[in-house]
Amino acid sequence: MNKFWSEMVNRTEPYLPGEQLNDPAIIKLNTNENPYPPSPLVKEAIAEQLEGQLRLYPSPTADSLRETIAETVGVSKDEVFIGNGSDEVLAFSFMAFFHPGKPIHFPSITYSFYPVYAKLFNIPYELVRVNEDFTLPAELFFGSEGGVILPNPNAPTSLYMELSSIESILINNPDTVVIIDEAYIDFATVSAVELVKSYENLLVVQTTSKSRSLAGLRVGYAIGHPGLIKALVRIKDSFNSYTIDRLALAGATAAFKDRAYFDKTIMKIKETRSRFIETLQEMGFHVLPSQANFVFATHADRAASDLYLQLKEEGILVRHFNQPGIENYLRISIGTDEQMDCLLRKLEQLL
Ligand code: PMP
Repeated sequence: MNKFWSEMVNRTEPYLPGEQLNDPAIIKLNTNENPYPPSPLVKEAIAEQLEGQLRLYPSPTADSLRETIAETVGVSKDEVFIGNGSDEVLAFSFMAFFHPGKPIHFPSITYSFYPVYAKLFNIPYELVRVNEDFTLPAELFFGSEGGVILPNPNAPTSLYMELSSIESILINNPDTVVIIDEAYIDFATVSAVELVKSYENLLVVQTTSKSRSLAGLRVGYAIGHPGLIKALVRIKDSFNSYTIDRLALAGATAAFKDRAYFDKTIMKIKETRSRFIETLQEMGFHVLPSQANFVFATHADRAASDLYLQLKEEGILVRHFNQPGIENYLRISIGTDEQMDCLLRKLEQLL
């Protein structure tokens, strides 16, 4: 094999997403998708695009979506960047803000795409060890040479870090970029977006995949100082200056406009989460206090790997990680009440 190719292949490693089984009979609780469909306005907006607009290129600046997001989260349009899923926004952010030779910091237990991007872009990294209870020691992120990235709430633990701790990380990394990956923030309390006005080194990354039921449309975005946004736009334009496709632009814009639908589904998922956690605890599970649309749970008497396989045989897919430290935990997405009841009935039989 060509030397460069083989070096690249050895250096990088593919990100392995959760199993995607298309059998509708499967209860799929392994990739934190929203169990409810997107707002009905999304379908209307996409149908309108299908009637004749697809022959035209989409807007290279995505102004209407950026304006709508800016209004929703309380910033201005020039503080918003749009990408093809937040995974792409994160990849561009690694390229724009992190550098070979300067180690970045992220938690030892976290979103598994971070080490993949670090290796792909040749960025060294140091893992910040999570505490025994999986909380993050903010002070260990201070004074990072290359920058910081962490999800809030963290994945797969579901734990939320208070804004005061995030602010301390920003204050103690004044010369590097701190990325807060808020894929699950709408199921939590407060977003770090309110800190963007005070900290030029903060980039908040969010997605429509979870709280707005649009995982299939691939729309993520970043919020930060216009200087950071300009850097991301420069990188994006060097790949493909047309941001995301017309259907995604129209669908995502409609989803943000339907605030009532958003509020209703978020409330429902939070209610289901509380009830599900309570029942799991009654069954002897230790469940971390979740602020996400999933829970992270372990049972003292039963190996998580066995439970995962047994549930899979019963047509219920949850997530199990073969990673030291969390190998006895299951990550379970919050589905509909019916789906969670079905899972609980199966678990009762298995325990
Ligand atoms: N960040 C975290 C922490 C995630 O769990 C995910 C979803 N797996 C993403 C980012 C990416 O989401 P998307 O690309 O669908 O926006």
